[in-house]
Amino acid sequence: MATFALLCILNTFQSIHTTIIRRRGSANVVTPLRRQYLKVKQKYPEAIVLFRLGDFYETFDEDARIASRELDIVLTGREMGKGQRVPMAGLPYHALDNYLGKLISRGYKVAICEQLTDPDASKGLVERDVIRVVTPGTVIEPGLLQGKVNNYLVGLVVDKGQAGIAHADITTGEFATTQLPADQALFQIERLKPSELLAPEGMDFAVPGELTVTRRDDLWFDLEEARELLLRHFGAATLEAFGCAHLPLAVRAAGAVLRYVADTQKAALGQVTRLSTYSAGDFMTLDGQTQRNLELFQNSRSGTLASSLLSVIDLTKTAMGGRLLRRWLGQPLLSREALERRLDAVQWFYENALARNQVASFLNGVADLERLVNRVKGGMALPREVVALRRALEVAPEVKSAMGGSEQGQDTGPVAWLNSELKPCEDIVFLIAQAIREEPASNLDEGGVIRDGFSEELDALRQSSRNARQFLADLERDERERTGIKSLKVGYNRVFGYYIEVSKPNLAQVPPHYIRKQTLVGAERFYTPELKEYESQVLNAEERIVELEAGLFRQVCQQIGAQAERLLATAHALAQVDVFGGLAEAAVRYRYVRPELADDGVLSITGGRHPVVERSLPEGSFVPNDTLLSNEEAQLIILTGPNMAGKSTYLRQVALIVLMAQTGSFVPAESAAVGMIDRIFTRIGAQEDLAAGQSTFMVEMVESANILHNATSRSLIILDEIGRGTSTYDGLSIARAVAEYIHNHPRLGAKTLFATHYHELVELAGYLPRVRNFNVAVTEEEGKVIFLRKVIPGGADRSYGIHVAQLAGLPRSVIRRAEEVLVELEGDSRARHAVPLR
Ligand code: ADP
Ligand code: MG
Repeated sequence: MATFALLCILNTFQSIHTTIIRRRGSANVVTPLRRQYLKVKQKYPEAIVLFRLGDFYETFDEDARIASRELDIVLTGREMGKGQRVPMAGLPYHALDNYLGKLISRGYKVAICEQLTDPDASKGLVERDVIRVVTPGTVIEPGLLQGKVNNYLVGLVVDKGQAGIAHADITTGEFATTQLPADQALFQIERLKPSELLAPEGMDFAVPGELTVTRRDDLWFDLEEARELLLRHFGAATLEAFGCAHLPLAVRAAGAVLRYVADTQKAALGQVTRLSTYSAGDFMTLDGQTQRNLELFQNSRSGTLASSLLSVIDLTKTAMGGRLLRRWLGQPLLSREALERRLDAVQWFYENALARNQVASFLNGVADLERLVNRVKGGMALPREVVALRRALEVAPEVKSAMGGSEQGQDTGPVAWLNSELKPCEDIVFLIAQAIREEPASNLDEGGVIRDGFSEELDALRQSSRNARQFLADLERDERERTGIKSLKVGYNRVFGYYIEVSKPNLAQVPPHYIRKQTLVGAERFYTPELKEYESQVLNAEERIVELEAGLFRQVCQQIGAQAERLLATAHALAQVDVFGGLAEAAVRYRYVRPELADDGVLSITGGRHPVVERSLPEGSFVPNDTLLSNEEAQLIILTGPNMAGKSTYLRQVALIVLMAQTGSFVPAESAAVGMIDRIFTRIGAQEDLAAGQSTFMVEMVESANILHNATSRSLIILDEIGRGTSTYDGLSIARAVAEYIHNHPRLGAKTLFATHYHELVELAGYLPRVRNFNVAVTEEEGKVIFLRKVIPGGADRSYGIHVAQLAGLPRSVIRRAEEVLVELEGDSRARHAVPLR
């Protein structure tokens, strides 16, 4: 036995030994192509290298295995040296975008290695190098981006309890940074939902598991390095103008982001022309938990946009408008002044139906101006994208006049400021209209992009090309007449160019100035000096035309790019108009009202509705409910009622109304007065929170602790069935203690809605002065529960669980037996708890 084992070990040694030798020996026998590949791959170990070989991008080794698995392409092998068969998987070059999209969306990085020299022309090995590394946060391909969603690359650095967070969307040029306490960093990350998070190698910080995280050397986040890089990039002498000179972590994060963009997408660097600094304290904090619980951006069951708040209120017409609304919803404001301005604009569109409809129809189908400007500026735009840019710009004055704006800019009224932000861009519209054809060729390889009359040189070239073509077209007829050869033909092929073809029987009639070019079986082909002359005219002209058009196109793009600031300002104004118009449209369609904003700490809603649930029900069947919460009086509402009564819906509807109001939207209610809320906390009890997939009691308690530590008197707390994930008495005790703490703690005093099936909690109102009991009403008819969906004062006296079980179809005998048991149990507990109910 022992000998056998020894033999095995020896054997293994032997084979390891021989592989080493074989490897060493074979290093010299790999093909030059393999060597070239390995050199490239060495530089991009963390990316999948797509190695261009003719009409294919090939992947090798481990990359090939991944590509084959992820892209469902065939894994083959290729001999790349003696005895060196390497795994390989390839994809056709023209399908790159499609495959790239799949890899990026699954969190991979892709290095695209192109052929730099013409394979036909170069002898030996074609030169190849990586021209671009595509990473989830630095994608620019329109096909890989979602129109109404920003694609953020986020840099994060944490040091001594503080964090710096910078984000960039290189497709729109947005670049901003902030500094804040480290324990709030996660909220910003949850808000930005980065496609890629950039962090220092040495940083220890728990980031959400589903994020693509790219680690870079700590030096990337060094303050001096970062400062210098930013100053150099913006050509500035100080960071003062960007507002972050005194925020070292904000600077460090921004520097790293910029460096990463430079590293992966050099071409996009020019788009990053400004850096803004914001303070997270200017906005309502919305943690990821709350975003999910309130289903702001996605439905918790399907994880898609459908049935989210955004899906209901987003009636924007353009991608830029959609992105802006999404951003606003993630960052509700705390400034009343700023909100009133938004609400004024929404109201104006609400009242001016004509303008609202006009603007909507103007904006319909308008291209993504923001991203287009950046593509043009970066030299990446296709001809038809420039035409789309012009059409988008042409809409600006129409929108302006629909909003009552005049060129003098002396407008007054709620949308005057918007009008003044719609900068006139006639010069650019004119330039594009003059320069680019209405329907230009799809790329620059074949001409047909620049309009006649834009360039004299181009016109002359086109003219001479046309003349020469005409001459050649006429030549056949002329030569037939001249020579009398009826079957004479003028033709063209790629190798020999233009020729005159005469069949064998007619050769005797060929004039002496014809020069023989090629002999076929039944004919001879000739040319004449004159023919040669026109031929070169045609061919040269065509080549020159393509070159010249490409040059002119680049020039036009540069001229447009030079005005990027103004164009982007207009794009931003159009986006805002789109959002205001859309919110007004939603308000009209769904009967929303303008909320009153106040600083008095009172939240008062009459006839409030849940904006999403009401859309899923037949028109008019949603039952509206009132709410009154205040720091002084009704601070904590205990909401009881049986399962399915509508408790969760009510809680969320209150939070959503607050959130909509502080976004600048009208709200689903008859009237609403919203005392500004600094933060909405939500805690949905373990069993309610099935979608999150982490329904443990521990998680629930950690989150409750977080609320108790961070809420202020200006916060709104939504507690839905907390304490459920444990035994009844534990759960009840915890729920009770949490409620008491919120009520009694001097710093807290936060407005709170607490839904619970523990109807024992109604006792709280007996000894806590600012607690109020409400329940969602039900009645019984012939032993059946009828849900009234009405929130009324007082606590529910029973849970009706058995009735719900009956509704669910449990056998009649089971229901009857349960009723008997309940009567017994209630008898017991009434005897024990003799606490009076209010
Ligand atoms: P609970 O949390 O009390 O178990 P839910 O809030 O989940 O109940 O509501 C159950 C269902 O009742 C919802 O899916 C919704 O269809 C309906 N519902 C809730 N509130 C209302 C209302 N105000 N008007 C009409 N239907 C409602
Ligand atoms: Mg519920």
